[in-house]
Amino acid sequence: MTCDEARAELIGFQLAVLDDPRRGELERHLTACPACVAELLSLKRDVERPAPPPASLRASVRQAVAREMGLVARPPPWWERPLAFGLGLAAVVVALTTVQLVATGQPRAPVGLGRGGAP
Ligand SMILES: [Zn+2]
Repeated sequence: MTCDEARAELIGFQLAVLDDPRRGELERHLTACPACVAELLSLKRDVERPAPPPASLRASVRQAVAREMGLVARPPPWWERPLAFGLGLAAVVVALTTVQLVATGQPRAPVGLGRGGAP
């Protein structure tokens, strides 16, 4: 068996689907050929190495672990932030007051269009 023939059979050998007599020939070749053994080891590493998880998954796992260990302060919910709640409430009160004043006030001419205002 030549090195080219052996290297063509390495994946089948690694996956244990190579039948005799090719398997026996390859094993005999591997006992005498360090280059093909190195090729087999490289192939074995590539086949057996798990694919790395995506970066987004690693980041979310790191954040979850840090949160679980208390290393990262979680932002408080909105009802636990009095300043934000107070400002939101003030904005609602101002809006309601403005609407009520506009809806119940006497209609007036816009500034600059009233009687005697023009030169
Ligand atoms: Zn070889």
